[in-house]
Amino acid sequence: MTLISVHEARERILSHFDPVETTQLPLAQAAGRVLAADIRAADDLPPFDNSSMDGFAVIAADLADAAANTPRTLRVVDDIPAGHAPAIEIKPGQAARIMTGAPLPAGADAVVPVEETDFNDRSPGTPLPEYVQIFKPPPVGANIRKQGSDVRAGQSMLTAGHMLRPQDVGMLAMLGVALAPVYRRPRIALLSSGDELIPVEAPLSPGKIRDANSYTLAALIEESGSDVIRLGVAADQRESVQALLDQAVEQRADLILSSAGVSVGAFDFVKDVVEAHGSLNFWRVNMRPGKPLTFGEYRGVRFIGLPGNPVSAFVGFTVFVRPALEKMSGRTPLDPPRVRVRLSEPIRSDGRESYLRAIVSKEGGALTARLTGHQGSGNLLSLVQANALLILRAGVKFLAPGEEVDAWMLE
Ligand code: AMP
Ligand code: MG
Repeated sequence: MTLISVHEARERILSHFDPVETTQLPLAQAAGRVLAADIRAADDLPPFDNSSMDGFAVIAADLADAAANTPRTLRVVDDIPAGHAPAIEIKPGQAARIMTGAPLPAGADAVVPVEETDFNDRSPGTPLPEYVQIFKPPPVGANIRKQGSDVRAGQSMLTAGHMLRPQDVGMLAMLGVALAPVYRRPRIALLSSGDELIPVEAPLSPGKIRDANSYTLAALIEESGSDVIRLGVAADQRESVQALLDQAVEQRADLILSSAGVSVGAFDFVKDVVEAHGSLNFWRVNMRPGKPLTFGEYRGVRFIGLPGNPVSAFVGFTVFVRPALEKMSGRTPLDPPRVRVRLSEPIRSDGRESYLRAIVSKEGGALTARLTGHQGSGNLLSLVQANALLILRAGVKFLAPGEEVDAWMLE
C-alpha cells in the first residue's frame, strides 16, 4: 500500500464515521453533551411583564409634572412580591409596591425605583406605606421588562450539533426543556501494545518503560466528549493482540484505538491481526511524526492504529482521531485554531507534512515561534513545553528565520 497524504488520510477516515444514536438526558446531566435537535422556545421570555427594580408600579401620566419640590402623592393599593400575581388593577392616583422580578399589575405602565420616592426603606419586613411621594416623572415603560423582550415563543435558540455549555443548560431550564435531546457519547476501546510497557505504578527495570500513551490518549478521548473502554496493554504476540481486539468487539466499541505495533518491526503484529480478521484501508501517511498510522476495520469495528512514540500518538490523535470523534459525537469536525507565526530560528524537515512542537509568543506585536528542543518523536517533554504545533506543508524542507508558517494552538 502506498504512502498517502495527510489530507487524503483524513478524508478517508472521516468518510467512515457518522453521528452515533441520540438519547434524552435529564437536563442536570446535559452540560458538555452535544445537542441532537434544534431547540425552539416554547414560551416568551420573560414570560410576563415584570419589574427590573424594587419600587412602585405607577401610571406614568399621573406623574407628568412631579418634581423634587412639587412631588406627586399616590395611594399605595397593593404589595407585589416576586412570585405572586397582582391582586388588583392600578387606577389613576394609585401605585403598588413592587419587587424586582414581580409581575407588573394591570393598569400600570412604569416602575419608579424606591430611590426616587420618599419611601426608601428597603429593610426586610418593612410594612406597606399608605401613600408614596414621587419626585420625578418616569417615562412610559420605565424599569419594565416586557414579556418576550428577550425571547419570542417559536424563536430558534440552539441548533443540533452544539455542545451544551453551562449558560446553554440554564437557557434550556428557562424554556422548560427537562429532557435534553443529545447524542450518546461514542465508546472508544483503547489499548497499548508492546512487551516493554509496564504500568505507571511499577518501578523501572531493564528494558522496560512505562505505558504513557494509555494516559495521554484516554485524556484526549475524554476531552473530545467520548467514553474510554480501557483494555490495557497487549503483549507483542498475535494471540495477545487478538484477545484485546476481541474484547473491544464484545464491548461494542464504536472505534478501536491502539498505539504501537503498526510499523515494520519483527514484532509489530497489530496491523497483521487487523488485516487477518478485517481489512486495512491504509497504513502509512506522508507525515512527520506519525508515518505508520493505520486505518481499517476489525471484525466490523473501525480501527485506528496510532504509532507508538508518544509524540506521534498525540499528533496522530489530533490530526485524525479527534475529528472522527467529533463527527461521531454529532459535532462538525474542526481543526484546532490556526494562526500565522513568524519563525525566530531556521527549521528543517524531510519533506513530509510536519508537525513541530513550538512555543508561540507575541514579540513586538508579531506572533513568533521557536521550537521546544529536539523533535524526536519519543521526546514527550518537547510537547509538554509546547503551546503550538507548527505545520510544514509536504515538500517543504527548509524555512529561514523570519519566514511565516501556520501553527495550531494547543491551548
Ligand atoms: P512501536 O510502534 O511498537 O515500534 O513503538 C515505537 C516506540 O514507541 C517504541 O520506542 C516504543 O517503546 C514506544 N511506545 C510504544 N507504546 C508506548 C506507550 N504506550 N507509551 C510510551 N511509549 C510507547
Ligand atoms: Mg512495539
